[in-house]
Amino acid sequence: MREPPEECLALIWSRADAREPRFSGDDVAAWPDGTMAQLAGMGLVREVENATSVVCDACADAHVEEVMLITSPRGSTPRAYISCPENGRVRVPIERLRQWEVDFTGLARAIASALELAGNVEEIVSGRVWFLGKATIAAQLREIFLACGLTWEDACDVLGKSARLNAARTSILLAAGEVPPERIWQGDAPPVVALKSVGTWSETGLSVDRGHLESLLSSGRKKKPAVPLVSFPTPAGTTWSDVRLIVKYTGLRVEAKGKHKDYTVESAGFEKQGTKRGPNRLWLLLKAFGMHGGLLPFKAVDAKTRTNLKQYVSDLRKQLTALLPGIEDESVSYDKGEKAYRTAFRISSDESLQFPTPLNASWTDVAIARDGDTGIRIAVTAREKFPVSAYEEDDGRGEDTHRWEAAEREGTVERAYDLRMLRLADEQDHPNHAGQALLSVLSGEGTVRRDADDRGMLDLCGVLTKLMGIDDSPFRFAEYDEKWVALFDTP
Ligand SMILES: [Zn+2]
Repeated sequence: MREPPEECLALIWSRADAREPRFSGDDVAAWPDGTMAQLAGMGLVREVENATSVVCDACADAHVEEVMLITSPRGSTPRAYISCPENGRVRVPIERLRQWEVDFTGLARAIASALELAGNVEEIVSGRVWFLGKATIAAQLREIFLACGLTWEDACDVLGKSARLNAARTSILLAAGEVPPERIWQGDAPPVVALKSVGTWSETGLSVDRGHLESLLSSGRKKKPAVPLVSFPTPAGTTWSDVRLIVKYTGLRVEAKGKHKDYTVESAGFEKQGTKRGPNRLWLLLKAFGMHGGLLPFKAVDAKTRTNLKQYVSDLRKQLTALLPGIEDESVSYDKGEKAYRTAFRISSDESLQFPTPLNASWTDVAIARDGDTGIRIAVTAREKFPVSAYEEDDGRGEDTHRWEAAEREGTVERAYDLRMLRLADEQDHPNHAGQALLSVLSGEGTVRRDADDRGMLDLCGVLTKLMGIDDSPFRFAEYDEKWVALFDTP
């Protein structure tokens, strides 16, 4: 994209506080052709009706005259004229009559998108104050607002009516025009930043200099995060169940409602503070959740972490809220039945997922069934041996004999996974070769007719043995009728 001239932005900011925030054809005459159409395309301005009067440019007087439109012969394009005392009837090019005005709703949307804010833009005082969304800026979760006319005499009233702004615990107010004097605030003034000090052009359109915004807000703070933490542009109405996190070796991928963003460990805010480098404890906890498919039993973490697990989970929730602002429900909860923490979001890890398979379990103890459109449910019924005391009646000598014998106790471990977590489907939840193979096995009640060297089946064997930690093959290939037969149950 060819960037519009820098003067465009200056003109927008300078007109933002005008009662009629308009530009005339003369204001923009020096700009390259198509600039206004481009700004209108970005939603920053919109064309309004043509001017009905114009400054005479035929003499040195700069007198303003009403425009006469003449359409003659009938049906031809109208021509515009003014009358000049010196030059008589003077033709005015139609371009000079065109007018545009600042489109504040479009401006609000452009800023929200430039800052990747969470939530939807809302106008909270008509034509004056807009809620733009939430973001973590300068290490704090903030609600961001836009206002114009902050130096007008009614500004105090307008701000008084901005309930949402006044209710916000931490906010930033972006001023489209001038920054007002502090006395217009009834209580504590939020930080107010003039858009002209942070607005620039980038390749993609209007951009907001986040670094500068951070530094304006961080001044006076003792601790400054090493790298700005850029929060996820969470779509409005997102719940944690709409979110998927993928913990990678080098960072984190966040997905929600069709949006995605890749973070480094550092930019996601999981880097150690201070002089020691590397991922912090919360990152290791997040990774542990990933490796356990979102259900983390107490037993799965080391003793030291276990002692503080409740605190770490609470810190992790805060960290996730900072990363994905604007989600109302709880991200991680305690599951009493499972004695485990459970994520409301889906999570997987580049380090392979591990089913908590009981020792000595074999494929015949395993059951795999479909779960919804994109998932499966795996259950292992394990028999664990334990001693019981028993009496055996009458051994022929009229005596009961007491002896210890081994009994078996059954317990079931069950987990639900979606195919993507198991790397059996792609990012659009379309099953890959191995995923398709598994689905045909399940719909075929445990048998499927495929070649002995079928790639999908061979891949699937790899995925399942790794997931379950059972070394034998989960299938046997029946040479006679060229069928794969699952050793696990497919209820
Ligand atoms: Zn004149």
